[in-house]
Amino acid sequence: MAEAAALEGVRQCTSELDKYVYLRHLQQESPALFYKLLINNAQELLPVVYTPTVGQACQEYSKLPIKMHGLVIRPADKGHILAKLRDWAGVERVRVIVVTDGERILGLGDLGFNGMGIAEGKILLYTVMAGVNPAVCMPVCLDVGTNNQELLADPTYKGLRQKRLRGPEYDDLVDEFMSAVRDLGDHTLLQFEDFGNSNAFRLLDKYAPLQCSFNDDIQGTACITLAGLLSALRVTGKPLQDQKILFLGAGEAGTGIGQLISKAIQAESNLTEEEALQRCYYLDSKGLVCRSRTDLQHHKLPFAHDVPFQSNLLDAVRELKPTMLVGVSTQPGAFSKEVCEAMSESNDRPIIFPLSNPTSKAECTYEEAFSWTNGKVVFASGSPFDSLKAPDGKIYFPAQANNAYVFGPIGMAALLTHCHQITDEVFLQAAKVLADLTPESTLESGMLFPSISDMKGMVVPLIAGIADFMVKSNLGKRPGGVSKWEDHVKAQMYQPKVYGRALSVKVAPTPVPEVH
Ligand code: NAP
Ligand code: MN
Repeated sequence: MAEAAALEGVRQCTSELDKYVYLRHLQQESPALFYKLLINNAQELLPVVYTPTVGQACQEYSKLPIKMHGLVIRPADKGHILAKLRDWAGVERVRVIVVTDGERILGLGDLGFNGMGIAEGKILLYTVMAGVNPAVCMPVCLDVGTNNQELLADPTYKGLRQKRLRGPEYDDLVDEFMSAVRDLGDHTLLQFEDFGNSNAFRLLDKYAPLQCSFNDDIQGTACITLAGLLSALRVTGKPLQDQKILFLGAGEAGTGIGQLISKAIQAESNLTEEEALQRCYYLDSKGLVCRSRTDLQHHKLPFAHDVPFQSNLLDAVRELKPTMLVGVSTQPGAFSKEVCEAMSESNDRPIIFPLSNPTSKAECTYEEAFSWTNGKVVFASGSPFDSLKAPDGKIYFPAQANNAYVFGPIGMAALLTHCHQITDEVFLQAAKVLADLTPESTLESGMLFPSISDMKGMVVPLIAGIADFMVKSNLGKRPGGVSKWEDHVKAQMYQPKVYGRALSVKVAPTPVPEVH
């Protein structure tokens, strides 16, 4: 009853942002009902609490009539961070943390403290997609200032009004936070989310060996994209080692994907690491990443191959003839008609993944990719797109390369096994298990992953497959008395219990400021 009323309440909201506010109020007032609603209606409601609407919510975060759920840590908290973590009233016992410093929120840039919305949004997915109990989940924003002038000048901005902390002061704050997380004990899993790339790679290298942690933009994206590619190859019928992949964007997402794909190629062929890396090519904001460039950051160097420089994507596609195009550039429209046509000329079934989020940043839409390749495209995007009707009357559905398919299940498996490190091999394994679970009929309808609603039936074998791998690789332990992983996973998944209390969340939420 209450669930039906709440769903009706969401549906009556007239804008996506109103729906977001409504759901935030529900989360605060009746958490169990909120989670039940999300779990049972994930396909409809994830775009509200996660990309794309969460992007808009972050841009407006300081102005929204909502109560902050997560924990903010500021430079003034130095010396007391462990106490702050322990005192946080949001949970009984912390086992999962999503932390951001707000520097690169989706493809929207530096949103400072407003990035809290992304930590609060992402952590929900552990519960919705993988059954992690929300009572162990903590979203954190390290509010270290912002270089976003508009926010600094905005009187409603609730974050620290100063330029971003950099250098040793920033590093010391993060270091105290990370050691406080270790001191919490209990094998807490920590997800780094939407850090700018000058910190993301460094922090991951430094802390991954010390703490069960991963960076979702680098590794979660890589995992879901590899799963999408493995499914795409079931459609094209071509082997992985013969792929040539061109990325627009050579940041966290792009180079993370390239590293994992190269590992997957090495694992299933006799190619060397160098040969496997040569299957991936990149354009950054200055053109093709190649050996003659002298301005490349560290994370691009493994992909600086000995090929002639190209200044633009179309020339690079014509010259390199890639089998797959991946967009992680935040440049809407970059996969133009000419680019998609050039992909079609050299491939029977071109694989095109415009992954930039939110929807407004996607390199092309599903409809564009479909019509510019005469329906031949094998497609996945970062944000959801609508299905479309082909000229033959058949309905096709776009795949959404949503990291939540994998990071939630990986997190749940890590909790169940007390995993101490999430290695690249874990992400390889998760990608393979997910791709194998995707039924043939799903591929025929255009998708490369099970639909979000079908995931309900697949998440248990997915978590079980990852947990089993963690134990076999000595990264975690099998809990005593567990003989069948699937039974154990099922028994441990959170089931919201809603008691028949009348719902008092108003159907029309408090007026929300206009969003431009
Ligand atoms: P990032 O580390 O900041 O990297 C952005 C990259 O785009 C940089 O290499 C940048 O070039 C490049 N770029 C910017 N303008 C360009 C242009 N005009 N032409 C070519 N390249 C250009 O960001 P990120 O973490 O990789 O994220 C990028 C996008 O991917 C975001 O929109 C994010 O939402 C999306 N993403 C999607 C998923 C998903 O779908 N599952 C997951 C994670 C991220 P320089 O290196 O020269 O600055
Ligand atoms: Mn992200």
